[in-house]
Amino acid sequence: MDTTAVQTALSRLGYAPGPIDGAWGAKTKGAVVSFQAAKGLTADGVLGPKTIAALQAAVAEMRPVAKAPTQAVEAPAKVQVGGIVPADWMPAARIERIIFHWTAGSHRASGLDRSHYHILIEVDGKLVCGTPSIAANGIGGTGPRASHTLSCNTGSIGVSLCCMAGAVESPFRAGSAPMSAVQWKTLADVLADLCRRYGVPVTPKTVLSHAEVQSNLGIRQRGKWDVARLAFDPSIVGAKACGDAMRAMVGARL
Ligand SMILES: [Zn+2]
Repeated sequence: MDTTAVQTALSRLGYAPGPIDGAWGAKTKGAVVSFQAAKGLTADGVLGPKTIAALQAAVAEMRPVAKAPTQAVEAPAKVQVGGIVPADWMPAARIERIIFHWTAGSHRASGLDRSHYHILIEVDGKLVCGTPSIAANGIGGTGPRASHTLSCNTGSIGVSLCCMAGAVESPFRAGSAPMSAVQWKTLADVLADLCRRYGVPVTPKTVLSHAEVQSNLGIRQRGKWDVARLAFDPSIVGAKACGDAMRAMVGARL
Protein backbone atom coordinates (compact mmCIF):
# COMPACT_ATOMS: atom_id res chain seq x y z
CA MET A 1 0.00 0.00 0.00
CA ASP A 2 1.39 3.41 -0.90
CA THR A 3 0.62 6.53 1.10
CA THR A 4 -2.37 7.43 -1.09
CA ALA A 5 -3.88 3.98 -0.62
CA VAL A 6 -3.31 4.20 3.13
CA GLN A 7 -4.97 7.63 3.26
CA THR A 8 -7.91 6.41 1.19
CA ALA A 9 -8.38 3.41 3.48
CA LEU A 10 -8.16 5.54 6.63
CA SER A 11 -10.65 8.01 5.22
CA ARG A 12 -13.14 5.29 4.32
CA LEU A 13 -12.81 3.88 7.81
CA GLY A 14 -13.54 7.27 9.37
CA TYR A 15 -10.04 8.15 10.62
CA ALA A 16 -9.51 11.67 9.20
CA PRO A 17 -6.06 11.46 7.53
CA GLY A 18 -6.25 14.98 6.06
CA PRO A 19 -6.23 15.50 2.29
CA ILE A 20 -5.70 12.35 0.21
CA ASP A 21 -2.59 13.63 -1.55
CA GLY A 22 0.03 10.93 -1.08
CA ALA A 23 2.01 13.17 1.27
CA TRP A 24 2.95 11.70 4.65
CA GLY A 25 2.12 14.37 7.24
CA ALA A 26 1.08 14.76 10.85
CA LYS A 27 -2.64 14.19 10.15
CA THR A 28 -2.01 10.96 8.28
CA LYS A 29 0.31 9.73 11.01
CA GLY A 30 -2.26 10.72 13.65
CA ALA A 31 -4.95 8.77 11.81
CA VAL A 32 -2.64 5.73 11.69
CA VAL A 33 -2.05 6.01 15.46
CA SER A 34 -5.83 6.16 16.11
CA PHE A 35 -6.44 3.17 13.85
CA GLN A 36 -3.66 1.17 15.53
CA ALA A 37 -5.04 2.00 18.97
CA ALA A 38 -8.55 0.92 17.90
CA LYS A 39 -7.19 -2.39 16.61
CA GLY A 40 -5.04 -3.10 19.69
CA LEU A 41 -1.79 -2.67 17.76
CA THR A 42 1.29 -0.74 18.92
CA ALA A 43 0.13 2.86 18.40
CA ASP A 44 3.35 4.31 16.99
CA GLY A 45 2.17 5.64 13.62
CA VAL A 46 4.59 3.34 11.79
CA LEU A 47 3.19 1.38 8.85
CA GLY A 48 4.49 -2.08 9.64
CA PRO A 49 3.16 -5.30 8.12
CA LYS A 50 0.65 -5.83 10.96
CA THR A 51 -0.84 -2.37 10.54
CA ILE A 52 -1.10 -2.72 6.77
CA ALA A 53 -2.73 -6.15 7.11
CA ALA A 54 -5.23 -4.73 9.62
CA LEU A 55 -6.02 -1.81 7.30
CA GLN A 56 -6.61 -4.11 4.34
CA ALA A 57 -8.81 -6.40 6.42
CA ALA A 58 -10.85 -3.47 7.77
CA VAL A 59 -11.47 -2.11 4.28
CA ALA A 60 -12.39 -5.55 2.95
CA GLU A 61 -14.96 -5.88 5.75
CA MET A 62 -16.62 -2.64 4.65
CA ARG A 63 -17.20 -3.77 1.08
CA PRO A 64 -20.91 -4.31 0.37
CA VAL A 65 -21.81 -7.93 -0.26
CA ALA A 66 -23.02 -8.76 -3.74
CA LYS A 67 -26.18 -10.50 -2.53
CA ALA A 68 -29.43 -8.58 -2.32
CA PRO A 69 -30.47 -7.87 1.29
CA THR A 70 -33.63 -9.95 0.85
CA GLN A 71 -31.54 -13.06 0.26
CA ALA A 72 -29.35 -12.34 3.25
CA VAL A 73 -32.25 -12.09 5.70
CA GLU A 74 -33.96 -15.30 4.65
CA ALA A 75 -31.93 -17.33 7.14
CA PRO A 76 -33.00 -15.81 10.46
CA ALA A 77 -30.56 -17.77 12.63
CA LYS A 78 -27.56 -16.44 10.75
CA VAL A 79 -26.48 -12.96 11.67
CA GLN A 80 -24.88 -11.12 8.79
CA VAL A 81 -21.33 -9.96 9.35
CA GLY A 82 -20.56 -8.23 6.05
CA GLY A 83 -21.82 -4.76 5.18
CA ILE A 84 -24.84 -4.02 3.00
CA VAL A 85 -24.53 -0.23 2.83
CA PRO A 86 -22.24 0.80 -0.05
CA ALA A 87 -19.10 2.48 1.31
CA ASP A 88 -19.61 5.60 -0.81
CA TRP A 89 -22.96 6.25 0.91
CA MET A 90 -21.01 6.67 4.15
CA PRO A 91 -18.57 9.57 3.74
CA ALA A 92 -16.42 10.74 6.62
CA ALA A 93 -18.50 12.73 9.14
CA ARG A 94 -18.80 13.35 12.86
CA ILE A 95 -21.96 11.47 13.76
CA GLU A 96 -23.40 11.15 17.28
CA ARG A 97 -26.58 9.18 16.73
CA ILE A 98 -28.75 7.37 14.22
CA ILE A 99 -32.53 7.89 14.21
CA PHE A 100 -34.81 5.47 12.41
CA HIS A 101 -38.22 6.31 10.99
CA TRP A 102 -40.94 5.20 8.69
CA THR A 103 -41.98 7.45 5.82
CA ALA A 104 -45.77 7.16 6.42
CA GLY A 105 -45.84 6.65 2.66
CA SER A 106 -45.90 3.77 0.21
CA HIS A 107 -43.64 0.72 -0.01
CA ARG A 108 -41.33 2.52 -2.44
CA ALA A 109 -39.13 5.60 -1.91
CA SER A 110 -40.49 8.77 -3.54
CA GLY A 111 -38.36 11.77 -4.48
CA LEU A 112 -39.73 13.59 -1.43
CA ASP A 113 -38.81 10.65 0.82
CA ARG A 114 -35.29 10.70 -0.59
CA SER A 115 -34.92 14.39 0.26
CA HIS A 116 -35.70 13.79 3.95
CA TYR A 117 -33.50 10.81 4.80
CA HIS A 118 -30.00 9.49 4.13
CA ILE A 119 -30.98 5.87 3.52
CA LEU A 120 -34.38 4.36 2.72
CA ILE A 121 -35.40 0.70 2.91
CA GLU A 122 -38.16 -0.47 0.57
CA VAL A 123 -40.61 -3.28 1.31
CA ASP A 124 -38.39 -6.04 -0.11
CA GLY A 125 -35.29 -4.80 1.70
CA LYS A 126 -33.92 -2.86 -1.26
CA LEU A 127 -31.78 0.11 -0.18
CA VAL A 128 -32.29 3.55 -1.74
CA CYS A 129 -29.81 6.38 -1.18
CA GLY A 130 -31.29 9.67 -0.01
CA THR A 131 -30.30 12.90 -1.75
CA PRO A 132 -28.60 14.72 1.18
CA SER A 133 -25.15 13.48 2.15
CA ILE A 134 -24.51 12.08 5.65
CA ALA A 135 -21.53 14.47 5.70
CA ALA A 136 -23.91 17.47 5.60
CA ASN A 137 -25.62 16.32 8.82
CA GLY A 138 -22.29 15.64 10.53
CA ILE A 139 -21.11 18.08 13.19
CA GLY A 140 -19.44 20.94 11.29
CA GLY A 141 -20.88 19.65 8.03
CA THR A 142 -21.96 21.90 5.17
CA GLY A 143 -24.39 21.63 2.28
CA PRO A 144 -28.06 20.63 2.14
CA ARG A 145 -28.95 18.49 5.14
CA ALA A 146 -31.58 15.85 5.68
CA SER A 147 -34.34 17.29 7.89
CA HIS A 148 -35.76 14.16 9.47
CA THR A 149 -36.18 14.98 13.16
CA LEU A 150 -37.35 18.30 14.63
CA SER A 151 -34.43 20.19 16.30
CA CYS A 152 -32.24 17.09 16.16
CA ASN A 153 -30.61 16.89 12.73
CA THR A 154 -27.05 17.96 13.58
CA GLY A 155 -24.92 14.88 14.15
CA SER A 156 -27.90 12.64 13.31
CA ILE A 157 -28.24 10.16 10.45
CA GLY A 158 -31.83 9.51 9.35
CA VAL A 159 -32.78 6.05 8.08
CA SER A 160 -36.37 5.38 7.05
CA LEU A 161 -38.51 2.38 6.18
CA CYS A 162 -40.82 2.98 3.20
CA CYS A 163 -44.18 2.04 4.70
CA MET A 164 -47.17 2.86 6.90
CA ALA A 165 -49.21 5.14 4.62
CA GLY A 166 -52.55 5.82 6.30
CA ALA A 167 -51.59 4.00 9.51
CA VAL A 168 -53.36 4.82 12.80
CA GLU A 169 -51.72 4.41 16.21
CA SER A 170 -54.75 3.71 18.37
CA PRO A 171 -56.63 1.54 17.82
CA PHE A 172 -53.75 0.31 15.70
CA ARG A 173 -54.26 0.00 11.96
CA ALA A 174 -51.24 -0.60 9.72
CA GLY A 175 -52.80 1.15 6.72
CA SER A 176 -52.24 0.36 3.06
CA ALA A 177 -48.46 -0.21 3.22
CA PRO A 178 -47.65 -2.19 6.39
CA MET A 179 -44.02 -2.55 7.47
CA SER A 180 -42.56 -5.91 6.41
CA ALA A 181 -40.40 -8.18 8.55
CA VAL A 182 -37.74 -7.97 5.83
CA GLN A 183 -37.64 -4.17 6.19
CA TRP A 184 -37.20 -4.46 9.94
CA LYS A 185 -34.37 -7.00 9.65
CA THR A 186 -32.68 -5.01 6.90
CA LEU A 187 -32.85 -1.96 9.17
CA ALA A 188 -30.76 -3.85 11.75
CA ASP A 189 -28.17 -4.63 9.04
CA VAL A 190 -28.05 -0.99 7.93
CA LEU A 191 -27.80 0.36 11.50
CA ALA A 192 -24.97 -2.10 12.26
CA ASP A 193 -23.05 -0.86 9.21
CA LEU A 194 -23.56 2.77 10.25
CA CYS A 195 -22.57 2.10 13.89
CA ARG A 196 -19.40 0.39 12.72
CA ARG A 197 -18.57 3.10 10.20
CA TYR A 198 -19.14 6.09 12.48
CA GLY A 199 -18.21 4.57 15.84
CA VAL A 200 -21.72 5.06 17.24
CA PRO A 201 -22.43 2.92 20.34
CA VAL A 202 -25.75 1.07 20.54
CA THR A 203 -27.56 2.85 23.38
CA PRO A 204 -31.10 4.29 23.77
CA LYS A 205 -29.67 7.79 23.20
CA THR A 206 -27.53 6.97 20.17
CA VAL A 207 -29.53 4.39 18.19
CA LEU A 208 -33.21 5.18 18.52
CA SER A 209 -36.47 5.62 16.70
CA HIS A 210 -38.11 8.96 16.03
CA ALA A 211 -40.78 7.96 18.54
CA GLU A 212 -38.09 7.74 21.26
CA VAL A 213 -36.44 11.12 20.61
CA GLN A 214 -38.67 13.07 23.02
CA SER A 215 -38.37 10.59 25.90
CA ASN A 216 -34.72 9.58 25.42
CA LEU A 217 -33.18 12.90 24.37
CA GLY A 218 -35.68 15.39 25.85
CA ILE A 219 -36.21 17.06 22.46
CA ARG A 220 -39.91 17.74 21.84
CA GLN A 221 -41.54 16.21 18.77
CA ARG A 222 -45.06 16.59 17.46
CA GLY A 223 -46.91 13.33 18.03
CA LYS A 224 -44.42 11.12 16.20
CA TRP A 225 -45.01 7.38 16.66
CA ASP A 226 -42.51 5.97 14.17
CA VAL A 227 -41.62 3.28 15.27
CA ALA A 228 -44.04 2.29 18.06
CA ARG A 229 -45.74 -0.65 16.31
CA LEU A 230 -44.57 -3.53 14.15
CA ALA A 231 -47.26 -4.47 11.64
CA PHE A 232 -45.94 -8.05 11.37
CA ASP A 233 -45.53 -8.61 15.12
CA PRO A 234 -48.38 -7.30 17.31
CA SER A 235 -46.68 -8.63 20.48
CA ILE A 236 -44.21 -5.73 20.49
CA VAL A 237 -46.04 -2.54 21.49
CA GLY A 238 -44.68 0.91 22.19
CA ALA A 239 -41.66 2.99 21.21
CA LYS A 240 -39.39 1.60 23.94
CA ALA A 241 -40.24 -2.03 23.20
CA CYS A 242 -39.65 -1.54 19.48
CA GLY A 243 -36.44 0.42 20.12
CA ASP A 244 -35.10 -2.18 22.54
CA ALA A 245 -35.89 -4.95 20.06
CA MET A 246 -34.01 -3.15 17.29
CA ARG A 247 -31.00 -2.35 19.50
CA ALA A 248 -30.75 -6.02 20.46
CA MET A 249 -30.71 -6.98 16.77
CA VAL A 250 -28.06 -4.37 15.97
CA GLY A 251 -25.94 -5.41 18.95
CA ALA A 252 -26.02 -9.02 17.73
CA ARG A 253 -24.53 -7.89 14.42
CA LEU A 254 -21.57 -5.99 15.90
ZN1 LIG B 1 -39.93 10.23 11.70
